[in-house]
Amino acid sequence: MTANYKAELVGVLGYPVAENPTGVMQEAAFASAGLNWRYLTIEVKPEALLDAMRGVRAFGMRGINLTIPHKVAVLSLLDEISPDAAMIGAVNTVRREGERLIGENTDGKGFLRGVREEAGVDPKGKRIVILGAGGAARAIAVELTLAGAREMTVYNRSVERGQTMVRDLVSRTGANAHFEPWTGTYHVTPDVNILVNATSIGLFPDVDAMPDVSLAAARPDLLLCDVVPNPPETRLIQSARAQGLKVLTGLAMLVYQGAIGFEMWTRHTAPEAVMKDALARAFGI
Ligand code: NDP
Repeated sequence: MTANYKAELVGVLGYPVAENPTGVMQEAAFASAGLNWRYLTIEVKPEALLDAMRGVRAFGMRGINLTIPHKVAVLSLLDEISPDAAMIGAVNTVRREGERLIGENTDGKGFLRGVREEAGVDPKGKRIVILGAGGAARAIAVELTLAGAREMTVYNRSVERGQTMVRDLVSRTGANAHFEPWTGTYHVTPDVNILVNATSIGLFPDVDAMPDVSLAAARPDLLLCDVVPNPPETRLIQSARAQGLKVLTGLAMLVYQGAIGFEMWTRHTAPEAVMKDALARAFGI
């Protein structure tokens, strides 16, 4: 047999990036699938993104993840943007087709896979409330709309950001969506089927922080989702569990968005259990 010492390369570009745990999960997946692939965690300052993307091409990398602050800036450096990444207005995953680099967004798709496969809930026809209007909220709102959600309300602290998100969502997807300013406590009403915390409230190290939400009037079959991946057991998740509600933690979204990326790049089925286990160990849970 001819020797082949050349590994296939993927990775993540971000700034800061050192605490991004994706490499742990992808490297575990490559090992489990017997693939000679490497996932590189690469610090790239904003002004160096153009050169970095030239490097991705020059190194023949099979794909790349983008994280803060590159998800929007990368749009102009790609050969094609997938329709849903264009609707979201951001790219977190790039895949290669020959010499062409194609931008995708797997954040919302990963969230959706978690809702369907882990929580066992179909968003079709459901009334949804999203807290937050940042990148994660935008990706989730687009994918829930494409999945047939009936009605969506977005609550956000910054009025302008919330209004802009809903305006983009409605004009790009035709969603039945509304914006409400988030002032004081948001009281969940019994008509809400799925509640998503898409803010960063509760993210390490602010683990004692909790979104100002009252679940007292929630319907018994409400699905409460939190996107915060670290720690997965946020105070919001804990309080929903204490009330007997169904929950989906941010770990699900993190694993499934990575699994979708793995499948786009390698065309192998992602070993999701291995990926989840690797992340849980990285978070010490
Ligand atoms: P952004 O910075 O784009 O958005 C942050 C959002 O949180 C904004 O809506 C902001 O409101 C809101 N927010 C932050 N602090 C507060 C507060 N104290 N009170 C009220 N609202 C607040 O971040 P992202 O959308 O990129 O990320 C959001 C979260 O999603 C993070 O925790 C991130 O880790 C997580 N995430 C998880 C993923 C996963 O795979 N599990 C994938 C991607 C992200 P305002 O506009 O008023 O500032």
